[in-house]
Amino acid sequence: MNLRIPGPTPVPEEVLREMSRPMLNHRGPIFKEILYRVTARLQQVFQTRNDLYILTASGTGAMETAIVNFLSPGDTLLAVSVGVFGRRFAQIAQAYGARVVPLEFPPGHAADPERVEQALREHPEAVAVSVTHNETSTGVTNNLEAIAAVVRAHDRLLIVDAISSLGLIPLPVDRWGCDVVLTASQKGLMTPPGLSFISVSERAWQAYQRARMPRFYFDLGKYRDYYQRGQTPWTPAVSVFFALDRALSRMLETGLEAIYRRQAAMGRLVREGVRRLGLALVPVEEGFASDTVTAVWVPQGVDGRALVRVLREDLGVVVAGGQAELEGRIIRIGHMGYVEEGELEQALSALREALARLGYRSP
Ligand SMILES: *Cc1c(COP(=O)(O)O)cnc(C)c1O
Repeated sequence: MNLRIPGPTPVPEEVLREMSRPMLNHRGPIFKEILYRVTARLQQVFQTRNDLYILTASGTGAMETAIVNFLSPGDTLLAVSVGVFGRRFAQIAQAYGARVVPLEFPPGHAADPERVEQALREHPEAVAVSVTHNETSTGVTNNLEAIAAVVRAHDRLLIVDAISSLGLIPLPVDRWGCDVVLTASQKGLMTPPGLSFISVSERAWQAYQRARMPRFYFDLGKYRDYYQRGQTPWTPAVSVFFALDRALSRMLETGLEAIYRRQAAMGRLVREGVRRLGLALVPVEEGFASDTVTAVWVPQGVDGRALVRVLREDLGVVVAGGQAELEGRIIRIGHMGYVEEGELEQALSALREALARLGYRSP
């Protein structure tokens, strides 16, 4: 099976093998060493000196952590959204009683930093801004550097979902001034699902002091206290820690710049491939097309669900369909992390074959 979904992503054999190590005391000296080493390595991948915490939760747990630790009920959040994952921040904030000002862009479009600026001018009461770096539902990478500069200039708290970009696409957290940045183990970090990570700036800790949203499992104050002792507040997914430790050491050996270059080449390869088939990308501007996931419109006359099925059942390639309003209308090809050119070429030729079987004639 050629697993080409945008997470969970394929995991190298040596990383998988770590998962079969015997259990140990998560409040003992060996785990303490692992926790400190993994945290330091994650800070390198985040390019940050900020505090960083490891949660046993999927990425959405880290999103919820970002909302409940830095906001109070009634606070206003400017929720910048270019797709399903951008809207998720708004949903979580609403569930906890925040007031949400949505700033939405249509599918395929990136967030316009000028419109973010305008919204901040119109909403001086907005204490924080949430944004997705790489929108996995549409294959669009936002210009986070420009958005962060605007948010800094207006002195608000910036919360970034970098779940499908961190460790894959450049995101220098400190240089760009991103207060809260979160990601998860199963996308760019070549590790099975189960852990997520969140970095916290000094400004974010100040917001934490004031924030009154209800929280318990995800209370970062508890994570900070336990970290001093080399522990996490609750039982962590120990096996995923073992795997992550190995994956991060592999990544840092390769070097971040080399990973970014390789990832960019993978993105180009897939975009050129789908264009050769005469298909249209969902991102309206090539400059904002994601290098980690490529979203493609299903051509007219082809059943999008059948396309995903034929690829999986007949040709051994697992791609993702569209979510929400894009269900059945697009397919998404994941190419993040542990992936070889050959696997992408095989996926592209399978796509050509599947389309042909469904009556589409590529040029
Ligand atoms: C995968 C993903 C999520 C959701 O993560 P879960 O681990 O499924 O909770 C959120 N945001 C983005 C951008 C993602 O790619």
